[in-house]
Amino acid sequence: MKYISTRADAASQTNPRGFSEILLEGLAPDGGLYLPTHYPHVDDATLNRWRGLPYHELAFEILSLYIDDIPKADLRDITARTYTKAVYGFEAITPLKPLESGVYLEALSNGPTLAFKDMAMQLLGNLFEYELRRRGEQLNILGATSGDTGSAAEYAMRGKQGVRVFMLSPHGRMSPFQQAQMFSLPDANIHNLAVEGVFDDCQDIVKAVSNDLDFKRQYKIGTVNSINWARLLAQVVYYFAGYFYATKSNAEKVSFTVPSGNFGNVCAGHVARMMGLPIEQLVVATNENNVLDEFFRTGSYRVRGSAETFETSSPSMDISKASNFERFMFDLLGRDGARVKSLFKDEIEQRGEFHVSAAEFAKVAGYGFVSGTSQHSDRLVTIKDTFERFGLMIDTHTADGLKVAREHLKPGVTMLVLETALAAKFADTIVEATGRQPERPHWIAGLEGLEDRPKRFTVLPADVDMVKDYVTRHCQD
Ligand SMILES: *Cc1c(COP(=O)(O)O)cnc(C)c1O
Repeated sequence: MKYISTRADAASQTNPRGFSEILLEGLAPDGGLYLPTHYPHVDDATLNRWRGLPYHELAFEILSLYIDDIPKADLRDITARTYTKAVYGFEAITPLKPLESGVYLEALSNGPTLAFKDMAMQLLGNLFEYELRRRGEQLNILGATSGDTGSAAEYAMRGKQGVRVFMLSPHGRMSPFQQAQMFSLPDANIHNLAVEGVFDDCQDIVKAVSNDLDFKRQYKIGTVNSINWARLLAQVVYYFAGYFYATKSNAEKVSFTVPSGNFGNVCAGHVARMMGLPIEQLVVATNENNVLDEFFRTGSYRVRGSAETFETSSPSMDISKASNFERFMFDLLGRDGARVKSLFKDEIEQRGEFHVSAAEFAKVAGYGFVSGTSQHSDRLVTIKDTFERFGLMIDTHTADGLKVAREHLKPGVTMLVLETALAAKFADTIVEATGRQPERPHWIAGLEGLEDRPKRFTVLPADVDMVKDYVTRHCQD
């Protein structure tokens, strides 16, 4: 399997790259995102063979369709070490939780940082370590976080050979739980840099450092952001797993509702559907930051400025533009890289918006996409109702999903709502909705008294050179 860029011109289409080449990269050199040259088709016999496999073996089967430059035995070992009951608390890894008839949550947030990003990031940690050892190289991961991504990256990379993490976060602005999770890690290869500024300052610093190509090369700077193809690929697995858990035969169809921000999670659902998994609809659920809902209702994609990007009680979906959306557009537009480039490079960068034609928009339904928006008052009602009727505490992002899912139920089609975080991570809103504190998951060691642990972090001014200087001094440890 080879990979091409969503902005690929004829030249790069004829020079596609292998999985291991793009694993440690972010964007393609032309500014596009990597996608496989085609989606392997999974037939009925293969679905039957996969049904009932343990999660890690299913992961191996799916990954090996897309990765042909890692020996099979090694890949099998990597998936077996990644998806274990010890890490995810349950043999099924992503078990279903029944709600009303025909509706389930699929639990993706049972990993170490209580959010679905662990599903992919834990695999990425093992793939990075493997590939760096094979090449005899080192990597310094530089990232910015306001919460979920940074902690998932640190828990995936902690103690890994050849990898260091330098994670910038806005000083004093993360939730106490998120801060304690990151700052209490004792591992020497994890560096928490608390920047005196807001999240955008952190992100600007990461961009400035990454744009300094000499510095980037000399100090082997890399990223783990959500546009990484390996992260997306890891997420494809739980669409198959959820389908097998919810159905008895391949004649049945299911729909998935996905709480969305950067379009990374639901884009994996799109890939699963393109492979032939019997998915009826992919329901995109947004919060007040409804860039994606607007597109799926109108065909207009309009990114937002910071004044129009709201801070909400489902903060991991507070985005102004959906960085993985370009991947779906590439498929929608018949894999026409020049057209994608003109939309994302010319129109978005110059005017901040584009509109697809009526003919192009008419094709969206054929890909199964529909959407909806949920807001703070919806979250409160949904969290309270779910607790009262089913005795289940759900988090704010999952509540957005469940609210929108119920607007798209179809008779005879099971609905799976992806649970993207545990309630314990967003306790304030849970208390607001139910008057009770959410429980912390018992299968994850070290959560009791987390906030009282010693913290390791360095406060730095919002200054590119100070951050570079820190990296320079600590990238040989
Ligand atoms: C990151 C995140 C999302 C959004 O996922 P995307 O892939 O960016 O669409 C939703 N919920 C939670 C809890 C998250 O951490």
